[in-house]
Amino acid sequence: MKCEHCGATLEIDQLKQVRFCPYCGAEIEIKEETPETVAGAIHGIAKTFFSQTADKIRYNREHAAEIAEQKRKDKEEEARRSRKMMMCMMGSLAAVTAIMVVVMRLTGAWG
Ligand SMILES: [Zn+2]
Repeated sequence: MKCEHCGATLEIDQLKQVRFCPYCGAEIEIKEETPETVAGAIHGIAKTFFSQTADKIRYNREHAAEIAEQKRKDKEEEARRSRKMMMCMMGSLAAVTAIMVVVMRLTGAWG
């Protein structure tokens, strides 16, 4: 990149910190993303992603016992819930059967 005012060659790294030409003092307008900054952005994103993943792995390792306990509790809760639902269904079934028996008796369809 060259300074539009004095034609001095400028380093991208210099422009990141100082947006003025170090030779003539003119303000430099950075018009487009240079490959350096795009690569830098990608590198930054990748670094963030990997550090987050690493944090998660570390967390999982440090809290393995807690996580296992939580999973066990969840399983228990689910089993309790499905037992409850089963009981509820069986209760409804019994009620329907009882009603059917009564109805059949009353209408003389049975006995
Ligand atoms: Zn200049």
